[in-house]
Amino acid sequence: MTGPTDRAGRGVVLGGTGGLWRVRSEDGRIVDASLRGRLKREPAARAAVADAPRRDGGAARERLKLAVGDEVLFEPDERGGAWAIREILPRRSRLARRAPGGAYGERIVAANVDQVVVVFAVAKPEPHTRMLDRFLVIAEANELAARVVVNKIDLTGEADAHGLFSDYERAGYPVHYTSTKRGDGLAAMRAMLGGRVSVFTGPSGVGKSSLLNALFPGSNLRVGEISESVNKGRHITVGATMLPLPDAEGGYVVDTPGLREVGMWSLPAEHLDRCFPELRPHLATCRFADCTHTVEPGCAVKEAVARGEVSTGRYESYLKLRGELEEADFTRW
Ligand code: GDP
Ligand code: ZN
Repeated sequence: MTGPTDRAGRGVVLGGTGGLWRVRSEDGRIVDASLRGRLKREPAARAAVADAPRRDGGAARERLKLAVGDEVLFEPDERGGAWAIREILPRRSRLARRAPGGAYGERIVAANVDQVVVVFAVAKPEPHTRMLDRFLVIAEANELAARVVVNKIDLTGEADAHGLFSDYERAGYPVHYTSTKRGDGLAAMRAMLGGRVSVFTGPSGVGKSSLLNALFPGSNLRVGEISESVNKGRHITVGATMLPLPDAEGGYVVDTPGLREVGMWSLPAEHLDRCFPELRPHLATCRFADCTHTVEPGCAVKEAVARGEVSTGRYESYLKLRGELEEADFTRW
């Protein structure tokens, strides 16, 4: 006997925008579901919560917007044979561009994210570590754990790869060295993806799809394809999608376009220093409480750079991003 309520369930939103959402139920079924009307409603008091702290005051409002990664309760839709999302369960984390309070509100890219995995290649394409810093800042600004994957180590050997990315190990990030060609590092990567929701990102051509296929043979997972062609040169957000990992442990990889423009993330310039973990221990010792770590005397950050405790390259990234964030006019958003 299966009545309509027996078929109701709990699931995870894999994709979709606006109209229909693809939901994967706990037992592995995939259904298309629409949002119940009352969940779609825009909040009336948007202005009133605009300045609310991000962790609490905004939560009720955030929950009204469904995002990939959201856990939901769904049920048969009595108006047709389809499914309807009845409730969006509280989020444990999220990756968002634009913090709450901007003129057009927050944009949630994915909900319930456990970690951001930034993939670079040691060569082909040449790694631009300043770009890697941007991805890491985005993860930090969202208070998400981040990891670095350095792929194609067959091209240079492991020692060179370690040399190129040692700044990240020193900054405290877990760094994985992999080769899909030789199989290096794949077991460790599989272990760190298992049972977690991971946002996979990095420049195109570094081997993101190859890695997923090497990790989960036969799954034919493609990452970043659609995003590259659809998003080219246009500042629009194409929805993210979640790929369930075909692994006993479960886990998902979130494929999301357009993560690289840190300027598009409404991070206040004065919050940037905290997004570099190796700077954090020094911030309290600058002479001025509002030190920008650029020109001020008695700057503990500049002293740490001079002593070699903080890498020059990472500090240069900080300066560059700081300049960009100061120029960005978030009030227009
Ligand atoms: P994506 O754009 O990040 O998804 O990158 P792809 O997975 O499409 O890979 C881009 C190119 O790099 C392809 O030609 C792959 O064969 C190649 N590639 C991927 N992984 C490795 C690797 O570990 N070593 C080498 N030498 N080439 C790789
Ligand atoms: Zn300072």
